[in-house]
Amino acid sequence: MSWGIFGEDLPDEANRVTVDAALTDSSGIPAPKITYAVSENSRRLLDFHIARATESLHTAGAYDVATEALMRSSGWHLLGTARMGTDPRTSVVDPYGRSHDIPNLYVMDGSVFVTSGGVNPTSTITALALRSTEHLIASRRDQRIPA
Ligand SMILES: Cc1cc2nc3c(=O)[nH]c(=O)nc-3n(C[C@H](O)[C@H](O)[C@H](O)COP(=O)(O)OP(=O)(O)OC[C@H]3O[C@@H](n4cnc5c(N)ncnc54)[C@H](O)[C@@H]3O)c2cc1C
Repeated sequence: MSWGIFGEDLPDEANRVTVDAALTDSSGIPAPKITYAVSENSRRLLDFHIARATESLHTAGAYDVATEALMRSSGWHLLGTARMGTDPRTSVVDPYGRSHDIPNLYVMDGSVFVTSGGVNPTSTITALALRSTEHLIASRRDQRIPA
């Protein structure tokens, strides 16, 4: 049997997604470049839980236990890059998903997340989309278009 350990990273400004200067996809669109480092807190979180998982297997009678410190091929929750906030200097969209730069552009997906939890995000993405849509309908008469 195997255990999978999920830890939740603390927010870290050094972790970011930027546009790669050279790499493009098959359509010539610039590819994302992900900058990420395991923080000391995350490392300690993982080490603690790996030790508990190992302990549980030995207690259950396992005689050969192998651990992998970090699954490099994981990372399936595609979040961030157009983060939500009230300050246009530090965020891309407002609390209802409207772009600070382009007033009739709304973003309703996982990219508006500011941080990511250790668990599945889709229910929250859906809830945010409903919330933004309700606000869009309620404020439809006040919509602005770019000059
Ligand atoms: C293997 C795997 C397992 C997962 N399991 C779970 C789970 O169990 N529970 C959970 O909650 N989450 C799970 N997730 C995460 C979840 O699927 C994503 O976080 C979520 O789908 C993100 O939604 P999104 O709308 O932001 O982006 P996406 O669902 O990725 O939608 C983006 C859309 O934009 C389209 N697109 C991209 N570029 C362009 C372009 N240039 N022009 C037009 N369209 C474009 C893409 O084709 C795609 O349809 C899993 C993810 C993966 C990969």
